[in-house]
Amino acid sequence: MTRDKVKKRIEYLVNEVRRHQDLYYKKAQPEISDREYDALFDELLKLERRYPDLALPDSPTKRVGSDLDNEFPEVRHPFPMLSLDKVYTIDELESWIEKSRNDTGYDISFTVEEKIDGSTIVLHYENGILVRAVTRGDGFVGNDITENVRTIKDIPLRLSEPVTSIFRGEIYIDRKDFEKLNSQFDSIYANPRNFAAGSLRRKKSSEVAKIPLKSYVYEGFYGDVSIKEHLKVLHKLTELGFRVFDDVGYFSSTIKKEYDNIFKKHTGWVRGTYRDIDNFIIRMKEVRDKLPYDIDGLVVKINEYPIRDKLGYTAHHPRWAMAFKFEAPQAVSEILDIDVQVGRTGRITPVARIKPVWIAGTTVSNVTLHNQDYINSLDVAIGDVVAVSRHGDVIPAVDEVIEKNDKGNKTFKLPDTCPVCGTPLIQDGAHLFCPNRNCPARIYGRISFFVGKGQMDIENLGPE
Ligand SMILES: [Zn+2]
Repeated sequence: MTRDKVKKRIEYLVNEVRRHQDLYYKKAQPEISDREYDALFDELLKLERRYPDLALPDSPTKRVGSDLDNEFPEVRHPFPMLSLDKVYTIDELESWIEKSRNDTGYDISFTVEEKIDGSTIVLHYENGILVRAVTRGDGFVGNDITENVRTIKDIPLRLSEPVTSIFRGEIYIDRKDFEKLNSQFDSIYANPRNFAAGSLRRKKSSEVAKIPLKSYVYEGFYGDVSIKEHLKVLHKLTELGFRVFDDVGYFSSTIKKEYDNIFKKHTGWVRGTYRDIDNFIIRMKEVRDKLPYDIDGLVVKINEYPIRDKLGYTAHHPRWAMAFKFEAPQAVSEILDIDVQVGRTGRITPVARIKPVWIAGTTVSNVTLHNQDYINSLDVAIGDVVAVSRHGDVIPAVDEVIEKNDKGNKTFKLPDTCPVCGTPLIQDGAHLFCPNRNCPARIYGRISFFVGKGQMDIENLGPE
């Protein structure tokens, strides 16, 4: 066969195999026997192996992978793939929404999507053909894992339209598949996320093809000024052939008619006004365990792209999106001492000094106890073993006492007088204040003052 004939034959076989796959899987109306289908498939595979330069990037054979060892060359992303800022309470989330609305001054709306616990993937399509798939890496440079990603059924090798764009999504594995397969491999992964990430880095794509990895795609059309709303992008993604979350939430000041058609097509998508966000989040928390895969929170995004462009990015995160995490990262530590701070307004804040612990990327050695009410509600004393958590970027807090101290220390009590100037403190709301306008703490700013020393065995303070 001449090269030209081989090329034509490959094109013919690709189309035929794809057509028969469609008839078999989507329409359940096969026109040929399994044996005839296998023959077409094998012929295509053989020609592609013999003439690799003539193989098409969206050939259906890509789904079965190859036995050749993959290299994963590093690739620089065309723009940074940033991570999201996080909050851990509905209050914090509402503050962010409120702030976004005020800062932009526009009637903005928000989408809420699942935050799936998987492996981020960046997909490059040229004229509708998947040409490259890159891991997120450090956000700037990732690894090219195209051959492995081509084996994942959820990711179209060819889109329904000849679109040239970059898309971002997540690759994951269902919990039941993880449990079944994890024990079969020599290396045991701690959770489905690690399993998915490890699977994507297997050397042979034919092995990846055997793992039931799945995918959702949730961003795309970067820099395309013709699409101005995220909800329309999500809808467009489904039309192109991507898998998109079944339970997207959309919240605006008023219900807009223009999206009626989109919501008619996506019956699982929910819309409402700002007041409904709370309930949506609470409901998602409840359905979380019923999903076949793990989600660790929700992602709230500003719907309007021109507003997104206006808000831009910090060094680490987009300002137009926020992750709502279901669980705050926690650690266990011991209260070594409690330090009473006097702020510029005269406000008294008890701060616990704890044995340093590593929580969500930083070492924590000071945690706030807020005020006497908070201390009383926890019943916390120096020497107690406590659970500590970081809620977003705010100061870490003590969540609960896990084990009472055996030194006889009682629930901590704030002093009656200012630890800096000695003036009797006054109660205002939940907090105590030093009323002395000439208090050095109020003049020079926050001064820490240790009052707890006498209450515990000093020898225990040193490193162990
Ligand atoms: Zn004072």
